[in-house]
Amino acid sequence: MTDTPDPTFRLTVRVPHHDQDAVSAWLFTAGALGITTDKDTLTCWFAAPRFAPTALAVPASLAHVSEDQFLPEPHRDWHAAWVDTITAVTVGPFLITPQWLVDITPLPDDMIRLIVDPAQAFGSGHHATTAMCLELLHESSGQFPDWQVADVGCGTGVLAIAAAKLGATVEAVDTDAVAVRVTEKNAVINGVTLTTAVGSVDALSTRAHTLVANLLSDTIISLAEELATAPTKELIVSGIAREHFPRVEQALKPFTGSAATVAHRDGWVAARFHTDATR
Ligand code: SAH
Repeated sequence: MTDTPDPTFRLTVRVPHHDQDAVSAWLFTAGALGITTDKDTLTCWFAAPRFAPTALAVPASLAHVSEDQFLPEPHRDWHAAWVDTITAVTVGPFLITPQWLVDITPLPDDMIRLIVDPAQAFGSGHHATTAMCLELLHESSGQFPDWQVADVGCGTGVLAIAAAKLGATVEAVDTDAVAVRVTEKNAVINGVTLTTAVGSVDALSTRAHTLVANLLSDTIISLAEELATAPTKELIVSGIAREHFPRVEQALKPFTGSAATVAHRDGWVAARFHTDATR
């Protein structure tokens, strides 16, 4: 028995790419049981041919949806349908491939494979916040002899594994014990060795050159001093909605000065701060 009803109605709507995260969040509050997105189209499944009542205002792109747009859906194998939507993704020098696609996704000579299955924990590489961290880490590689990296909020371990593949010695921590287990499993699958711990910045055992933290804005702000003083050279932060970046930079500035690099994608910001500036 399950408490989740079978999703039996499908709704397809046009939603501009940059609005899809916000509209998806609203759809879940309105009873959506599953959502997939593709360019400017968003498809979602419901148990009934209507939105459930929600206290949040209807996004503009859904304002004119009518009941006859909810189409009856024959029984589907939901896991298989979801698996079909996942593809390998290229970020900088990395080809991020789910395990089930490794055999049919050849690795170009100049690329580095990261094997990560989505949906075990956050961090499949499909998200802009992860992708920007991977690119910033790639820029850092080769900058520091005996490079040491700390990954705070490791999720699937995608950033930690990428840094290890770039030659770093890496420590990965997450407050979620399940994420740490997933990271450890993914390290084995990718043939890298990581030091891991359950916890946050205070669980790190050494001062790395580079600390990468793909967390949310408020978490970064509340940990600003710890994040900025833990690494010896640089802090890479991500997971910051564009409108929150000034607050994040303000919180870090007393320890780091202004951001040295700011990257934008899909409404998200990632930034590099030098942490040796005030030393
Ligand atoms: N590093 C991955 C995952 C980011 S998701 C990537 O870039 O894709 C953010 C992760 O941070 C989650 O796994 C969450 O459990 C963890 N997290 C949230 N708050 C935290 C904190 N204060 N300290 C450490 N980890 C935290």
